Amino acid sequence: MRYVEVRREVCMTAREIYEARLVAGTWGNVSAWVDDVMVITPSGMDYGTLSPEDMVIVNGEGEVIEGFFAPSVETPLHLAIYKNRPDVKGIVHVHSPYATAFAVARRPIPVILEETAQAIGHEIPVAPYAHCGSEELAHHVVRTLGQDKKAVLLANHGLITVDVSPSAALRACYIAERTAMITLFAEQIGSINILADEDVKCLYEKFKNYGQKKDR
Ligand SMILES: [Zn+2]
Repeated sequence: MRYVEVRREVCMTAREIYEARLVAGTWGNVSAWVDDVMVITPSGMDYGTLSPEDMVIVNGEGEVIEGFFAPSVETPLHLAIYKNRPDVKGIVHVHSPYATAFAVARRPIPVILEETAQAIGHEIPVAPYAHCGSEELAHHVVRTLGQDKKAVLLANHGLITVDVSPSAALRACYIAERTAMITLFAEQIGSINILADEDVKCLYEKFKNYGQKKDR
């Protein structure tokens, strides 16, 4: 079996989004890009019992080249992102409740916490609505992500994050969800204060350098 480590990381990330209740049932999906192929979660399987061998490997055209199951229905969305963003090596898509509330209201999640600035670095915008699994949804998300964003809300659907690995993308999901939750709590108390653009930029750059030093 090829790509054992990558299969393991995709599988563990999928199990974690289920256990952390970022998705219900078999919704949500996780992928990684390695050597011009994509390792992605299978469609409609119970995440609680998923194992690395269940992951599906598809080529750039979305054809299965290794695996026993059909790939996630969001395969066109994941592939479109990797094609447009060579810096992205991991993608996580969840239906977590607080972020999804913003997606339903079609309102961006603001940068109100230092951790949002550090790990995501921008307001999380909303991609226009399109049916799940459609090429149209892929097109909207790719356009909204642009060349530098890490997280996008899918209108009336959920959240998608991209990063250098599935684990890094998962961290962005947790932070987006927490930011959405705290925004809603703060609004119960009074008005929210959004961090200034220059502070967001500075915090993001500092955190990026810190991470690079640590990896060396
Ligand atoms: Zn979804």
